[in-house]
Amino acid sequence: MSILVVGEQRDGTLNKMSLETVAAAQQFGAELSLPVHAALFGKGAEQAAAELAASKLDKVHVIEHELLDVYTPDAAALAVRQLVEKLGARLVLFPHTYQVRDYAPKLATAMDRVLVSDVIAHKREGDTTIFVRQLFQGKVNADVHCTGEPPFFASLQAGSFRADTREPGSAPVEKFTPSIEASQVRSKPLELFRESTRAVDLGAADIIVSVGRGIKDPENLPMIEQLAEALHAEIAASRPICDNGWLPMERQVGSSGQTVAPKMYLAVGISGAIQHLVGMKGSKIVVAINKDPEAPIFEIADYGIVGDLFQVVPALIEELKK
Ligand SMILES: Cc1cc2nc3c(=O)[nH]c(=O)nc-3n(C[C@H](O)[C@H](O)[C@H](O)COP(=O)(O)OP(=O)(O)OC[C@H]3O[C@@H](n4cnc5c(N)ncnc54)[C@H](O)[C@@H]3O)c2cc1C
Repeated sequence: MSILVVGEQRDGTLNKMSLETVAAAQQFGAELSLPVHAALFGKGAEQAAAELAASKLDKVHVIEHELLDVYTPDAAALAVRQLVEKLGARLVLFPHTYQVRDYAPKLATAMDRVLVSDVIAHKREGDTTIFVRQLFQGKVNADVHCTGEPPFFASLQAGSFRADTREPGSAPVEKFTPSIEASQVRSKPLELFRESTRAVDLGAADIIVSVGRGIKDPENLPMIEQLAEALHAEIAASRPICDNGWLPMERQVGSSGQTVAPKMYLAVGISGAIQHLVGMKGSKIVVAINKDPEAPIFEIADYGIVGDLFQVVPALIEELKK
């Protein structure tokens, strides 16, 4: 019995949510007294495995097969299933990425199980592990536990577990070759049609000033730029700002943008929709400026300023300049 983390990589670059999943798996492993393994598949897996292997893990498995070079849910589900069965994994954890949403439910169903998806926390009640996941756009938290025989499958929401709590180590890397026939892979992927350029690495910023629809007009953005400059911060935004082309897509934070965890995240005129929160709730300190005292962003903010951003931001800039 073991815990298996199935991480994600593309062309040798590890998706950082994989490290959050490893940190979570280490906690679960300590609680359940189970060894923790990790795995990666796809072209470049061996290269990305080196980063995973710098963790306290029993083993990192590189799942290799030419039919995994280009991602398909059929091949991914077949390959991971064979490793799960080989290891006799009790708990299989995934980062809740778009790719995982694609193949992990299929894998769980193929093994006559369910996937507990988008988990935000966990607790222990006696011998039982309880997963917490949100319903109705984050308005309700539900406690879920798995019954029946393992393996149990769960995917973890971005930012729910902190990658910097991961215990370092040096794990052995081992190759695993699943048996997959071309006839079992039913989809034929075409070219990737849209990728953000990621010229800005928001992940590396200590302070982020993030702007939302409260800014009303792109003509007002220079005020936010001044605030960012005064704080030596990077600028980010909610999705509508990037969708409107007011700021480049690479500055979008959230479930379909970047995941960030700076020392301070200053949200200006952002309501705090769940899709935005998942991208920034790992921030150490969250400051929110919003004129609506009921805005959901205040639920996770450490400091909140209820007020008109067109008054608050200039006053802040003035103070910072002093
Ligand atoms: C599949 C999917 C993926 C998504 N991915 C993302 C994502 O990655 N990132 C993301 O951000 N969103 C994402 N969204 C969109 C998300 O649901 C919200 O619509 C979006 O985050 C709202 O952006 P906002 O907070 O800027 O705007 P709004 O929700 O319109 O909020 C504007 C806020 O500004 C405040 N405000 C207005 N005027 C002022 C003022 N003068 N002073 C102070 N405050 C003021 C208002 O009170 C309000 O709270 C996604 C949605 C879907 C369905």
